[in-house]
Amino acid sequence: MKKQNLYKLLYQFAIIAILTFMGFRLLFDKAYAPDFEAYCPFGGLQALGSYLTMDSLSCSMTSTQIMMGVALFIGIVLFSRLFCGYICPLGTVGEWIGKLGDRLKVRITPKGFVDYALRLPKYALLFITFYFTLKSSELFCKKFDPYYAVASGFDSDVVLLWALLAIIALVVGSLFVRLFWCRYLCPLGALSAIFKFSWWFLSVMALYVILILVGLDISYVYPLLVIAGGGYILEVTRMKKVWPDPVHITRNTETCIDCGLCSETCPQGIDVARMEKVTHTDCTLCGDCLHACPEKDTLLINKKTIKWLPAVVLGALIILGIGAGSLFELPTIDQKWGTPEQIESAGVFEMEGLKNIKCFGSSTAFANQMRRHEGIYGVATYVANHKVRVLYDTSLYDDEKLQQLMFVPVKRVVRAVTKDVDSVTYYTLTVDKFFDPLDATYLQHLLNQKTDACGFQTEFACPVIVRIYFPAGTEPGREALTEVIESKNLTFTSNDNEFHVKLPYKVITFDDEPMTMSKREYASAMFVPTASRFNGYSNFSDDVVSKYILRMGANASLKARYTYLVSHLSNDDGIIAFETALDSAGAEMGVIHYVDTLTVPDDIYAAVNSDTLLFHYSDGRTGKLANPFSFPDPGTVIK
Ligand code: SF4
Ligand code: SF4
Repeated sequence: MKKQNLYKLLYQFAIIAILTFMGFRLLFDKAYAPDFEAYCPFGGLQALGSYLTMDSLSCSMTSTQIMMGVALFIGIVLFSRLFCGYICPLGTVGEWIGKLGDRLKVRITPKGFVDYALRLPKYALLFITFYFTLKSSELFCKKFDPYYAVASGFDSDVVLLWALLAIIALVVGSLFVRLFWCRYLCPLGALSAIFKFSWWFLSVMALYVILILVGLDISYVYPLLVIAGGGYILEVTRMKKVWPDPVHITRNTETCIDCGLCSETCPQGIDVARMEKVTHTDCTLCGDCLHACPEKDTLLINKKTIKWLPAVVLGALIILGIGAGSLFELPTIDQKWGTPEQIESAGVFEMEGLKNIKCFGSSTAFANQMRRHEGIYGVATYVANHKVRVLYDTSLYDDEKLQQLMFVPVKRVVRAVTKDVDSVTYYTLTVDKFFDPLDATYLQHLLNQKTDACGFQTEFACPVIVRIYFPAGTEPGREALTEVIESKNLTFTSNDNEFHVKLPYKVITFDDEPMTMSKREYASAMFVPTASRFNGYSNFSDDVVSKYILRMGANASLKARYTYLVSHLSNDDGIIAFETALDSAGAEMGVIHYVDTLTVPDDIYAAVNSDTLLFHYSDGRTGKLANPFSFPDPGTVIK
């Protein structure tokens, strides 16, 4: 009986066991939010590429993933593709399914031209993955990666059809074709093969850096194309490399009995029994052949009896990657717009726990928000810790003023106030660990699920002031409301996705008694007016402009969609403005300004009730949206 490679099995079972544990915990602990990609070297290499070319880090990537990518590179250059052979879950699944294919006697190993042609798609996927990741600073591989799709439960980053096709390719392909995913489709497999020809990769990168340094403006697309295309050509033309890897398998032809067990065992299908040195690019230095060989001192590593080497080296590389990654932190974005003198003398303010800082897009939005303020010279964000670092003029700001700049006050309707309600009761309290708009979203769900609250608003202070409104008579007691706000967990559904969140809020102060206001005062307190002018508004004098007044009614709950309605209305050249206001009873009204020589009320009424909203993006493109608004009653006209 063939001896098993226990070192490799130990790694593979450990990885599968850890992932299975995380998956089961996810099923039973709704607030558990594991990061299945925390140590993924491929994500780390994409993030590093994004950081070097675009000066930004792909979303949720950390220095640990980057250092795991660097460890992968070092491991491949000095040893071999140990990651593929030992710890990649897709490699393990593909290998185990392949063993089933062997037992069923349905597995084949493509050879010659067919094999060469099949190796091309993984290089195309490598190019596409890096191209879109560098372009958008979002990890593109998440869209189709079978591992990420299954581990994340097909989260919103996954393109369902692509991921399903990839999973089918992995499972069905591996049953019939030797390591189908690894050899023919995996972009990390392509990158690992390129790293095996490190002289090629490093030469192209060095040339690119030199050309950039001498002042040429060359897109990253070209070196990416050359590296991927050249990698493919090298893989198929130099499959049996002229020079072996520095660490490689050797066969002692004197003691070999030609039993063929090594060739039979090799998961890559390499004919080890016919080689003195294994120089094949597919060799991952997994060591299966070493363990299968029945003859003492026959199959060796660099002619030495060191079967344990791959497992020990891999362990050392993992420790090195995680250890080095924990020593520093790379920002998701790092933008500075002050002069060198301003930056030199700037103060540095850091704040953690900003849940809204969660990706490249939200980081950029935050930087744009801060850029508008005088005396702010730069912003860096770290999405993994939801942290920001702000460079500021110390003569203009202190910590509290900076927090005030970053704070976005909100007014949120939890539910509409019914007609029979005459007055509203409210509590004012301060809440610790409550700061950004995502906190407001969580509070909105908490209040909706556990109270009869109709709305709340926030105001800057340290800690933040929160005012919560209830239809009079439905307000809970202080203790009950405190318990709601200090809930440890929240589960809610948004866009058909279920979210589980751990909450940290702590009520610090609480008004002794609730206050009461009229329904009209409540409407006024919660009202956020909208005003938009377009189609040459200022070119028209008052005597040609009329106002078409619409009762917003239930449409008032669609405030987030008002921009679509306004954009749609702008298609009529006669409509020149849209704004909202409250009437004397506190009901929200839509006021549409129009030029009465260019359009008529009937056309406006038809436009707001049309089946589809035709809107315009800021870059000039147009889009369509099923109209969520409905106005059963025509508006009234005032001059
Ligand atoms: S040749 Fe040996 S070490 Fe290389 S992949 Fe095959 S079994 Fe593993
Ligand atoms: S190297 Fe070992 S396993 Fe391979 S053919 Fe020779 S004796 Fe058999």
